[in-house]
Amino acid sequence: MRVLVVEDEHKIANAVKRGLQQQSYAVDVAYDADQGLAMATTEPYDLMILDRMLPGKTDGIGIVQTLRSNNIHTPVLLLTAKDKVLDRAEGLNAGADDYLVKPFAFVELIARVRALLRRSPQTSTTALAYQDLTLNPESMLVERSGQQIELTTKEFALLEYFMRHPERVLSKEQLIQHVWDYDADILPNTVEVYVGYLRTKIDKPFKSESLINTKRGFGYYFGVLGNTK
Ligand code: CA
Repeated sequence: MRVLVVEDEHKIANAVKRGLQQQSYAVDVAYDADQGLAMATTEPYDLMILDRMLPGKTDGIGIVQTLRSNNIHTPVLLLTAKDKVLDRAEGLNAGADDYLVKPFAFVELIARVRALLRRSPQTSTTALAYQDLTLNPESMLVERSGQQIELTTKEFALLEYFMRHPERVLSKEQLIQHVWDYDADILPNTVEVYVGYLRTKIDKPFKSESLINTKRGFGYYFGVLGNTK
């Protein structure tokens, strides 16, 4: 799951980034509206957290409006310093999905983020299951055949993306875009390395069918290809 944070207060932006990364999200940060707008309209995010007041040609509201008029319906959480009813209405009217008044507690932010992701089937926070493998995005527990599996946050994020897009060929580029941050600067063979780590933990120790598979020349797929349920 990849999140964009646009916030000009570096302290808040960096705290939010660190906190979300601990929850296994890939996080990009922009510190002004122009950079934020450019990233929001060109990179495939799963969620955006936008500050209302930003330096630049536009602001948080302007970014949401531009996204919605470009048919980009990524969930948006708006941060606002002002606790005015008018402001909130303005944000929601512009197309934001929720707002949070600053200062906020990090647990509150995470709760809002989860609630927004829960609304969309591609990002719901209920447990994912495929054959004998289960992954719980909330508790971050992974089990296969009743046996608990320890994953690093990046392995977890990669497996979660696979499990949300089962039985479909995913290119390395697609995996990079949704699982890694913009500034992670990773190469396609980094994906191979992480897929290798996942196989060692998810597939190799078990007698069951291999779930992480290679489609030579195209990328990877999770589960049984073309299995119609
Ligand atoms: Ca601000």
